Amino acid sequence: MGRFRPLLGILLAVVASCLVACGGPAAKIPTTYTPELLQQVELYTPAVAELRDRFPELQGYIQQKDWVNVQSFIHGPMGEMRTRVNRLAGTLLTKDKPQAQSLAKEIYTHLERLDEAAANNQQVIAGQEYRNALDDFDSFLSLVPTFQ
Ligand code: ZN
Repeated sequence: MGRFRPLLGILLAVVASCLVACGGPAAKIPTTYTPELLQQVELYTPAVAELRDRFPELQGYIQQKDWVNVQSFIHGPMGEMRTRVNRLAGTLLTKDKPQAQSLAKEIYTHLERLDEAAANNQQVIAGQEYRNALDDFDSFLSLVPTFQ
């Protein structure tokens, strides 16, 4: 048996190093953005950046109590919000995904409330919901590497 021991030792070493290199569940979840992952993020970035750029238009309409334009803006250009933000959230690191998805949900909940406030001519509430949506939008973007 004695002469097999070194061989067994080598085999165990090979198995051990393969377990480390090939990884358990922890190694399969990337904790930083590889170039490939970043490409995915970049793919969905422009559509979201466009919405963020146009967001202040809403504030102007709220200040003017232009509820018709507030509502058509929410259902028009901002109608894509849910889809676009969710697609981008889906490309983020596993550790950031849950927070990004819950912020995404927050953004359109606030937009729905803003829509309702506009329908009821409630300027103060409309302003608050606009501000809340913007804060959640910016928190969301702080999780996205292309906006950092
Ligand atoms: Zn919120």
